[in-house]
Amino acid sequence: MGEFDLIKQYFIRNKRLDRTDVLLAIGDDCAVTQVPAHHRLAITTDTLVCDTHFLADICPADLAYKAIAVNLSDLAAMGATPRWVSLALTLPKCDHHWLSLFSQGLFQILDEYDVELIGGDTTKGHLSLTITAQGFIPQQQGLFRHQAKVNDLIYASGYLGDSAAGLDLLLNPKSSEFNSAQHYLLQRHLKPTPRVTLGKLLLDYSQCAIDISDGLLADLSHILSHSQCSAEIEVDKLPLSQAIQTEYSHSQAINFALTGGEDYELCFTIPENKQIDFENMLKVQQLNCYCIGKITSQSAENIRLLNQGKTIPLPKQIGFDHFR
Ligand code: ADP
Ligand code: MG
Repeated sequence: MGEFDLIKQYFIRNKRLDRTDVLLAIGDDCAVTQVPAHHRLAITTDTLVCDTHFLADICPADLAYKAIAVNLSDLAAMGATPRWVSLALTLPKCDHHWLSLFSQGLFQILDEYDVELIGGDTTKGHLSLTITAQGFIPQQQGLFRHQAKVNDLIYASGYLGDSAAGLDLLLNPKSSEFNSAQHYLLQRHLKPTPRVTLGKLLLDYSQCAIDISDGLLADLSHILSHSQCSAEIEVDKLPLSQAIQTEYSHSQAINFALTGGEDYELCFTIPENKQIDFENMLKVQQLNCYCIGKITSQSAENIRLLNQGKTIPLPKQIGFDHFR
C-alpha cells in the first residue's frame, strides 16, 4: 500500500463537512480555513516519540487519543476552543491492524471535541507523531503565563499526581491484574482529559493559566518566572484522588502531586475579588476546582511549600525536563 492509499484509508473520512471554518481539508497542498470575526487563533504543536513519551507496545488507540489530548490541553490552558489539528506521522512500517486502531482512537477524541483533522504528513522511520492543534480565542481575552498578580489565588482543576502514579503502576506492576483503584490511575495516565470546557469558562474570571504537563511545581514555576512573582502552595490542600491515597503512602502521593507530570489539569489564578463569583459558577457548572495557594510577592520567583501553616522543604527534583 502506498502513502496515498494509507492516508485515504485511515485519515480521510467520507463525511460531509458542514462547518464554515474549514474550506479545504485533506487532499490539496494545503488546508484552507477561516477564523471567525473578532477571534484570534491559538496554535500549539507537540511531538510524541516512541521510547521517550510512550512504550512501543502501547495500544495505538490510546496513543492517538493521548497525542490529541495533550495538544487540546495546551489550547484549554489558553482558554481557546479547539477547532483543527494536523498530524505528522512517522511509521516504521505499514501495519494495518495498528493503523486501524490508531485511526479509531484519533477520530474518537476529535469527534468528542468537534475538532477537524485538516492535514498532515506521512513518512517512514522511527515511530513518532507530531500534532499541531489550532483553536479560537475571543479577541481581548485569553489565559497567559505572564498575567499572575500578587494576592491572586492559585487553583488546580482536578486531582494531581494520578498520572505519575499510573505510570509507576505500568512500569512496576504490583500484581498480574489491576484492581479498580489501579485501573483508575492507569486510565488517568493513558487517557487524560483536556480541560477544554473549564478553560473557556475561565476567560471571564482568570487571565492566567498553564496546563500541568511536567508537574505542578515545574509548571507553576513557569507562571512565576513569566509573571515575576512568588507563590505559596498549601500541601494539605492538594487534591488527591481516593485511588492514589489507597495505593500509595501519603508522602508518595504528595510527591507525585507536586512533581509528577502528565496530569493535564489546569493550574490557574483567580483574583481575590472574583473568587465568590468563580466558585458559584463552578457549582452551577458542576465542576470541581481546588484552591491550593496564592501568589505572594512581586519578585524572587520562588515557591514556598506550607503544611498546616508551617514551611516545609521543596522536593529535590521538581519536574520533568528532557535535557536535564
Ligand atoms: P505534499 O506532498 O503536498 O506534502 P502529501 O502527499 O504529504 O502532500 O499529503 C497529501 C495530503 O494528505 C495533504 O493534504 C496532507 O495534508 C494530507 N496528509 C498526509 N498525511 C496525513 C496524515 N497522516 N493525516 C492527515 N492528513 C495527511
Ligand atoms: Mg507531505
